[in-house]
Amino acid sequence: MKVICILCDEPFTPTKFQARKIIKHPHKIQICESCYDRISAKVSHREEKA
Ligand SMILES: [Zn+2]
Repeated sequence: MKVICILCDEPFTPTKFQARKIIKHPHKIQICESCYDRISAKVSHREEKA
């Protein structure tokens, strides 16, 4: 199973957990692990600031 990441446009293999989510909600956008890490790093940084 391959998914295209909406942020870096690269195909990646979802984790088992992601794959289950994709099957349940195929309309939802998916991002790869490295982009997810980048985003969650940003978010936690923002929370630190606030
Ligand atoms: Zn990505």
